[in-house]
Amino acid sequence: MVRKRVLVTGGCGFLGSHLCDALIDAGHHVVCVDNLHTGTMRNIEHLIGHAAFECVEQDVTSPLSFDVDQIYNLACPASPVHYQSDPVRTVRTCVQGAINVLELATSLNCPVLQASTSEVYGDPAEHPQSEGYWGHVNPIGIRSCYDEGKRCAETLFFDYHRQYGTRIKVARIFNTYGPRMLPDDGRVVSNFIVQALDGQPITLYGRGAQTRSFCYVDDMVRGLIQLMNAKDGVTGPINLGNPLEYKIAELAEAILHKTGSDAGVTYQDLPHDDPKRRCPDISMAENTLGWTPHINMDQGLDKTIAYFAERIAK
Ligand code: UDP
Repeated sequence: MVRKRVLVTGGCGFLGSHLCDALIDAGHHVVCVDNLHTGTMRNIEHLIGHAAFECVEQDVTSPLSFDVDQIYNLACPASPVHYQSDPVRTVRTCVQGAINVLELATSLNCPVLQASTSEVYGDPAEHPQSEGYWGHVNPIGIRSCYDEGKRCAETLFFDYHRQYGTRIKVARIFNTYGPRMLPDDGRVVSNFIVQALDGQPITLYGRGAQTRSFCYVDDMVRGLIQLMNAKDGVTGPINLGNPLEYKIAELAEAILHKTGSDAGVTYQDLPHDDPKRRCPDISMAENTLGWTPHINMDQGLDKTIAYFAERIAK
């Protein structure tokens, strides 16, 4: 193993902090950059003082100057509640952030991985979604700051690649869950678990007939690392996610059952532009990276419920 210096933007976030852990466990040196907007020091407090870890408080929209061998760009609020709370800032983070990591990667001639998203497919008219599908995205809706911001970031990645030979990797990340999600970020898994543990009814938007496919965070981190370390020609975009699809109402039932809550569900309006179905076709990740998720929903929910139960008890 060659020890690398690895820049992780958004390293104090949910996914970023798990990525920092995995890279350090593998023997690398991590430079974590985060503006602490939605990321928290709590997520990386166990790494503070570790010789292989540096944490720099900086916004990805300011120019980046670090001497590293690899760059993962995860810096962006990712839950609908957060990214919609300051949509102009979300677009700026996606677009200017992409330019800044690409400028750095180009000058260092090092690989740069973009955390893109299944949101690039919008409310998909094709099912399941494969990488060849161009998507069905509202350009002016309340999700557009994130969807179009991430689409533009992909455009920038491929333009830098074609124009300057930048060594790019683009992962399209589908819904991911696990410990260190914020209890108040509004995402479905964290919302439902926190509500159930608190004895509150679970808030089902619409009738809960919309579907999502949920990938446990450890599987996702392994996929990101495998993509980064794949040979240069493997640029993606490549879907990473768990292809098992659940109705949101089924997820609610599973969480009520696992937590022993008898508070039931309460129905609320479906948010605008909420995708009706989402499920990745991961054959490219399987064939190109040999990657497939290992942790099923049952195991992943148990781990996540245990995390929130402990957090609430403190
Ligand atoms: N959702 C819900 N209740 C909640 C939070 C979310 O029914 O308290 C639904 C939401 O409408 C969406 C799905 O769960 O259909 C996933 O929402 P999330 O915000 O986690 O992520 P998205 O995949 O929409 O970006």
